[in-house]
Amino acid sequence: MDLSFTPEEEGFRAQVCAFLHSELPRGIAAKVKAGQRLGKAEIERWQAILSRRGWLAPHWPVAYGGAGWSVVQRFIFEEETSLAHAPSPIPFGLNMLAPVLIKYGREDQKQHWLGRMLRGEDWWCQGYSEPGAGSDLANIKTTAVRDGDHYVINGQKTWTTLGQHANMMFCLVRTERSAKRQQGISFVLVDLQAPGVEVRPIITLDGDHEVNEVFFTDVRTPTTHLVGEENQGWTYAKYLLTYERTSMAGVGASTASLAWLKEIAQRETKRGRPLAEDPLFAARIACAEIALSNLRTTTLRVVAAAERGEVPGPESSMLKIRGTEIRQEISALARRALGPHARPFLPELLDGDGAQQPIDRLHAPGVTPTYLNLRKLTIFGGSNEIQRNIITKTTLRL
Ligand SMILES: Cc1cc2nc3c(=O)[nH]c(=O)nc-3n(C[C@H](O)[C@H](O)[C@H](O)COP(=O)(O)OP(=O)(O)OC[C@H]3O[C@@H](n4cnc5c(N)ncnc54)[C@H](O)[C@@H]3O)c2cc1C
Repeated sequence: MDLSFTPEEEGFRAQVCAFLHSELPRGIAAKVKAGQRLGKAEIERWQAILSRRGWLAPHWPVAYGGAGWSVVQRFIFEEETSLAHAPSPIPFGLNMLAPVLIKYGREDQKQHWLGRMLRGEDWWCQGYSEPGAGSDLANIKTTAVRDGDHYVINGQKTWTTLGQHANMMFCLVRTERSAKRQQGISFVLVDLQAPGVEVRPIITLDGDHEVNEVFFTDVRTPTTHLVGEENQGWTYAKYLLTYERTSMAGVGASTASLAWLKEIAQRETKRGRPLAEDPLFAARIACAEIALSNLRTTTLRVVAAAERGEVPGPESSMLKIRGTEIRQEISALARRALGPHARPFLPELLDGDGAQQPIDRLHAPGVTPTYLNLRKLTIFGGSNEIQRNIITKTTLRL
């Protein structure tokens, strides 16, 4: 199979690089590279730059503001933006809710919500998981009861990523108790500023506030905020998850982290010589690099199949497993390279201005928090054990 890019595709790559060179704010890229935290305003600033160029939601149909790119162009864009250390746009609205609205939403919902996403008017979060419903998602208990032209919602969501910034949540709720748990679930949009919503922080291993618990007490949402049909939410929820997973190979992000790891390994020394020349450490870097190169080839094969119109099946589970394992291994090596200087949590450095930081070991403050933070990759989006179950059932037919 020919995995090389055409001259047109390479021309497109050059266009993306030129755009990143002129438009990506240096301070933001420096923070992403060093694993420092971005504030809401910085994320919104970069999303607004992409939106002005028409590249915030390139995968959407052109009629709704998409760029009309091929899947290969999308792959190239993802690769180059990661290599340039551009922040990834927040996926909840653009990559998760939008495809559901485009396939199952009413026309007025598409016009309203998609337009607002492109203009950066809403910050969406995902309300799937509950304390008793993660891998076993059909176990959700949050209820929505009809009251005239509203639903009244009661219950709790958890692990809500960046819910502290969000004004809107797409939410799975139980609208009917039925024998089969997958039935009776609906997909609704909820205004998080409505009375009865309480968002509480969960502080994670890296000391960061990235996830939340969200409590609903008699929260009213209009019935016009129902997506698709009542009680059919499970179908839409699963459709959304395939979108969530296919973007998780993270080849570009791993390539960028590998380059950063090599920089660190050149600077750090062991017995007076760069760590990069230590045979054991060099071998571990080489293993990660080979695995990443294989993942890139496999991803391109899946991309090529998608270009021919084939829908990725268990391949997306395979990409998720390998992609997340490789990212974790690279972050583990970076932390190891810093040895005793790998500091667990230095808030003042994490929140600092990346552009001002000289790159030395004390100014790689993101390495350990990134290592800790990336433990999440093998859990969310359907844990890697669940992905292995999918492969076992669909490919090995066990
Ligand atoms: C940082 C982070 C951010 C998140 N963000 C969001 C968000 O924004 N919105 C949202 O809705 N959710 C979010 N989640 C939740 C995430 O989707 C769940 O954590 C995930 O689905 C796993 O569910 P659980 O945590 O309840 O673990 P459980 O389902 O209880 O699983 C515990 C362990 O058992 C294993 N296991 C469970 N069932 C099986 C099985 N059948 N076979 C083999 N092994 C099994 C799992 O792999 C895991 O190792 C986030 C999670 C994390 C960690």
